[in-house]
Amino acid sequence: RVVILRLGHRPERDKRITTHVGLTARALGAEGMLLASNDKGIKNAIEDVADRWGGEFYVKNDVSWKAEIEKWKEGGGKVCHLSMYGINLPDATEDIKSCEKLMIVVGAEKVPTEIYDMADWNVAVGNQPHSEVAAVALTMDRIAQDEPLRQEFPDAELTIIPTEYGKRVIDNKIKE
Ligand code: SAM
Repeated sequence: RVVILRLGHRPERDKRITTHVGLTARALGAEGMLLASNDKGIKNAIEDVADRWGGEFYVKNDVSWKAEIEKWKEGGGKVCHLSMYGINLPDATEDIKSCEKLMIVVGAEKVPTEIYDMADWNVAVGNQPHSEVAAVALTMDRIAQDEPLRQEFPDAELTIIPTEYGKRVIDNKIKE
């Protein structure tokens, strides 16, 4: 069970990347994303994709990051903060993999320093600067128990039939 906490989203400039953090997390098996800023457009855009493509991914808009982390930890969950300054992912994978309830925290600009102390792990996806989307994707792939790219998304309106050339999409509404 994985949930993403997105910090520092600036509605005027981070819309696309925050949407991609959410969509990537969903595609790799997270149950939802908590957005520590107020941007209902992000919630609507991601939940709209989830409605059409299946599964039950949610976005909780405008949360207090501190309250969410505290609540998560009280409920027995662990927190993995992704930061290029942290322990390198290959050195933490086994430990994180054994955790059944994981919150993955990603920032935008500078994250509050308190996060580093509240996290159970501060993990770098390589100690070089890159992107929160890539950091989420690689982490979720490495800590997954089953192949994350083979999961099913129930009750989808649209389903892709993988094909070598071209595009094949089934519209399940028409099929019924
Ligand atoms: N300059 C910011 C700082 O010093 O925290 C980092 C900005 S970076 C574009 C935005 C987010 O991407 C970070 O908060 C972190 O969650 C994630 N990120 C970027 N590179 C990363 C890396 N190598 N490992 C883990 N997370 C990374």
